[in-house]
Amino acid sequence: MEPGYGGGDADPRGARRPARRRARGAGALYWAIGAAALALVVLVWNVRTAEDDSGVSGVAAHSTTAPDPAASSGADADEAPVRPAGEQALLANPLYETGRLAPLPCPAPELEARDPASMERFLDAVADCLDETWQTQFERAGIPFDPPSRVFWTEPGTSPCRAYPSTAGAFYCRASKSIYIGTADVVDKWNGAEDSVVYASLLAHEYGHHVQGESGLLDYYHEQRRHEPDAGAQNVWTRKSELQANCLAGAFLGSVAVSYPLAEADRETIREDAAATADRQGSTEAERTHGSAANSVLWIEHGMERQDPGSCNTWNVDAGLVQ
Ligand SMILES: [Zn+2]
Repeated sequence: MEPGYGGGDADPRGARRPARRRARGAGALYWAIGAAALALVVLVWNVRTAEDDSGVSGVAAHSTTAPDPAASSGADADEAPVRPAGEQALLANPLYETGRLAPLPCPAPELEARDPASMERFLDAVADCLDETWQTQFERAGIPFDPPSRVFWTEPGTSPCRAYPSTAGAFYCRASKSIYIGTADVVDKWNGAEDSVVYASLLAHEYGHHVQGESGLLDYYHEQRRHEPDAGAQNVWTRKSELQANCLAGAFLGSVAVSYPLAEADRETIREDAAATADRQGSTEAERTHGSAANSVLWIEHGMERQDPGSCNTWNVDAGLVQ
């Protein structure tokens, strides 16, 4: 989903299209590691050396309305860690230099998708893993980090970005630094999918938007997008943000694969889900906010393989990779 600050700024992604589902047998969460299945050697380009930064145009002043005082000047007397700002937050964020995510244990419980209490337990367990993983990574980068709030809702409500339920299966709202997922609603929106990995992937994607926010790049991204003349030009920015969130989600899923094992069938489910939540073929430029199915899959796979936020710099790659 698109991260929003508030008002009508956010642009929800619709629910997943119907796709064939793979039921996961009881106990499957604890499969032994299928290391031999990792023959995903297709993604061998190096985004760090890509030459084309098309779509990233001009150097504008950093927004001075950033909510976090640490982002303002860098001249704080107490020398608190400073959040990156401006174009450098996108293109050369210190988070990109932090290497692979630490492979922390993530013993997620089994999920009974149609039981909202089970879904809440599952999401909380994965969110705990995400908190720990990204806290560690931000410490390495020397950037301040607070975990997002979790709104795993059962009753309708409102956020600074939008009311829920909405067309979005899940969303991140920067104004409240919160991730919103309805514990029954999300299952409906995902057509009753039973495989827990699709919900882990969705949560990790929304968390990716929080990572973007905490690393300072959402401020600059929103500012730049706002200046574009039409939806098509805005979506050039939006797709880079969404595909980066896919990659960050993949990096997390790859990093916890030791304790939250991903068999080849799970990886295939992740790929199918990434394709199903991408832009539909034949969409107009004004509708294309999440990237082609091929690019959506490519970035989450790339993240899973590299497990490194530095591999997720969608702001500085060939234009064809963020279409
Ligand atoms: Zn998103």
